[in-house]
Formats: sequence, structure tokens, C-alpha cells
Amino acid sequence: MHTSESTKYSPTTDIGQRSRILVVEDEELIREMIVLALEEQGYGVVTAADGRSAVEQLKSFDANLGEPTFDLVILDLMLPHINGLDVCRLMRYQGNPVPILMLSAKGSETDRVLGLEVGADDYLTKPFSMRELVARCRALLRRQRLSSLPQLPALQYKEITLYPQECRVLVRGQEVSLSPKEFRLLELFMSYARRVWSREQLLDQVWGPDFVGDSKTVDVHIRWLREKLEQDPSRPEYIVTVRGFGYRFG
Ligand code: CA
Repeated sequence: MHTSESTKYSPTTDIGQRSRILVVEDEELIREMIVLALEEQGYGVVTAADGRSAVEQLKSFDANLGEPTFDLVILDLMLPHINGLDVCRLMRYQGNPVPILMLSAKGSETDRVLGLEVGADDYLTKPFSMRELVARCRALLRRQRLSSLPQLPALQYKEITLYPQECRVLVRGQEVSLSPKEFRLLELFMSYARRVWSREQLLDQVWGPDFVGDSKTVDVHIRWLREKLEQDPSRPEYIVTVRGFGYRFG
């Protein structure tokens, strides 16, 4: 739940489906090279050879219906029919939030600025290496996924506030430092206030079903948590022992 998004990125595993990329490029050779490089990384790739068919491919996006068809668009600047700048402009005008990596043969600063101004997220000047392209795509997709993650609200009970995404806990206004296991325990308790948990259930939830060890581990962690949370650890008001059953929060 609190694994870092940035260290373990894979296009296929984390979200259970592969990212889809639309490649809009009129030069066949470059287009094919890009497709090969991206497919090798496990991405799903769809191509368009000019601006008009790109717009056609993107038409299935409807801001009111939500789900964009693609996770990323690689968009060449100079294209037949409708140029890349106009495709980009149109997408943003329609409210399509999909990240756009713009490609250009010209290395001029004006192109770059213009591209970013009309709503491109990144810009790559030809010639570029496929490694560079893949790295940029990966960064854009990662950024996109992070920004689309739901914001989890803080959990609050009496004088304890827990921020799930920041892995921070305030007790009586003071930040306390918890180990990852203590944090997970507290988060679980606070998510289900007053629910009684057996030691086995806590082991299962926090340590995982593969944990080999005994339920005394839970008691030890509870003791540590109490020392950090309770004003009087010998008479806990937050993590309460329910005799014969286990523990309860609140
Ligand atoms: Ca071109």
C-alpha cells in the first residue's frame, strides 16, 4: 500500500494492464523505430501517419465520459493535413488530459516553447535515441499515474492524526516516528475504529499471510505503539486489549 511508485515502475504490472501509446509520425522509418522500441518495453502502441487520422484516433475521447483512450501521445510537430501543434491544441481544447511528448526536427527554442505553450508535456528534438524516447515516455507515464492516484484523506481519532500517503502521524500535535509495521498497524486500527482484531488477523493484514513467526510479534508491536501514542501506556485509551479476543482501537 505504501510502496514507492517511483522505484518499481513497470508498464505492465502495477496497474494490471499495459499503457497504451498513440504514435503520430509521418516519417515511416522513424514511426516504425518508435513502435519497435515501445513494444519491446511492453507498451501497447497505435499509430497515425498524419494529423487528421491522429484526431480521428483521439476522437473516442470524451471529457464527459472520462476514460481517455490512450495513456500517452507521441506527437510529431510537422505533419500532413493538421500539424502537431494544432492536434495538441485541439486535444487540450477538448479537455483531453493525456500527456503529450512532442517531437520535432527543428531544434529551435521557439518550437519548444510553442509546443509547451499549447499544452505538450515534454519535447524531444530529432534526432534522438530510442533510449531517450523510452525514458521520456516512462517519466511522463509515471507522472500521469501519480497525479491520477486518489488523495487519501487523513485519519483522525481524538488526538491522533494519520496521513496515509505521507506516512506521517501526529499525536497531540507532535510528529511521532513509527516503524513501517507500527504505521501499518495504526492505519489498520484507525481505518476500522472499534473493530476487534485477533492477533492472527493482525498478523495476516500487516505482516502478510507468508509471515512465519508467532503472534507474540503483534503484542510486542502493540506495546511499542502504545508507548508512542498513549499518555499512560499502562492504561491505554487508544489501543485497547479485548480480553480473549485481541485488540481494538478506540
Ligand atoms: Ca514530420
